[in-house]
Amino acid sequence: MKDGYGREIEYLRLSVTPRCNLRCIYCAPEGCSKPDELLSDSDIVHIGRAAAKAGIRYIKITGGEPLMRSGCAGIIRRLKSVCGIDEVTLTTNGTLLPQYAEEIIAAGTDRVNISLDTADASQYAAITGFDMLGNVEKGIDMLCGADIPVRLNCVLLGGINDNSFYGLLKFPETKKIDLRFIELMPVGHGREFSFMSSDTVYNAISRIYPLYPSEYSGNGPAVYFESSRLTGRIGFISAISHRFCKSCNRLRITADGTLKPCLSMSCGTDLKPYLSDEDELYKLLKKAVHNKPLMHCFGSCSDEAETAAMNTIGG
Ligand code: SAM
Repeated sequence: MKDGYGREIEYLRLSVTPRCNLRCIYCAPEGCSKPDELLSDSDIVHIGRAAAKAGIRYIKITGGEPLMRSGCAGIIRRLKSVCGIDEVTLTTNGTLLPQYAEEIIAAGTDRVNISLDTADASQYAAITGFDMLGNVEKGIDMLCGADIPVRLNCVLLGGINDNSFYGLLKFPETKKIDLRFIELMPVGHGREFSFMSSDTVYNAISRIYPLYPSEYSGNGPAVYFESSRLTGRIGFISAISHRFCKSCNRLRITADGTLKPCLSMSCGTDLKPYLSDEDELYKLLKKAVHNKPLMHCFGSCSDEAETAAMNTIGG
């Protein structure tokens, strides 16, 4: 379904919990108390059906850390059977993959994005608060071994891990893994750090390998590059330096059922009163698509700006 600006809105980020087992300094360093109300598995499937009717074709399961929710694989399996949904993918910090990779593979997960900001164990512990890089690496191997497409998502923080991309390049060098750099957005604790622009990272990497634009576009605002010396691709999500809004194709639903048309804005619609009425859910989704803002408001002092932490929104 097209929004008021002609963008095809076909991607839904659906959060299944705000809780996370990591304490990333720019995301949720204080953690998250047990939420009062979460959408049930059946609520999520109702939303999935209404969303498919409203033109959504891709669903990304997110959190918090989605694998902290028991039955996450079951949710994926049920969404996979919704008519009209082409892909159900997962974004995870990867630390629980050694425990859950087999389940999510068996559930039919189409792709897994793993958030990994460094390949250095002590830097990893300094950013996340935990010594769990080994779990993430094991999880990556398990997914690759099962031929599940994997993307690594890295956020670079000025003065903290701004050189970590050098170490992360080992993944696309040796495996068919896309490595993507997401510019830090001024949301929640993200406001306390400085961002590294995509251009800076692109220039540094292209001094190592000649990069050329890829024809691949994925399902979202990332721009990809390839190199004859890389097995995987390099991607950039330039939320800040190259306002990615013209290619924004997504809606978000938080774990407690708030439908958000834009990541940067606090406005949203509470879906909870309508969970048993698929027609009403469809109408609300259609309205959210129609009213989707043209551009994010990051960097402005707008009253509309989102103040919640990223783990409660789902990234
Ligand atoms: N735990 C899951 C994961 O790690 O993928 C899902 C939730 S996490 C909030 C989703 C993504 O948001 C992660 O890649 C994280 O690095 C990113 N993120 C958190 N705060 C951010 C910020 N201020 N700017 C850009 N990305 C951010």
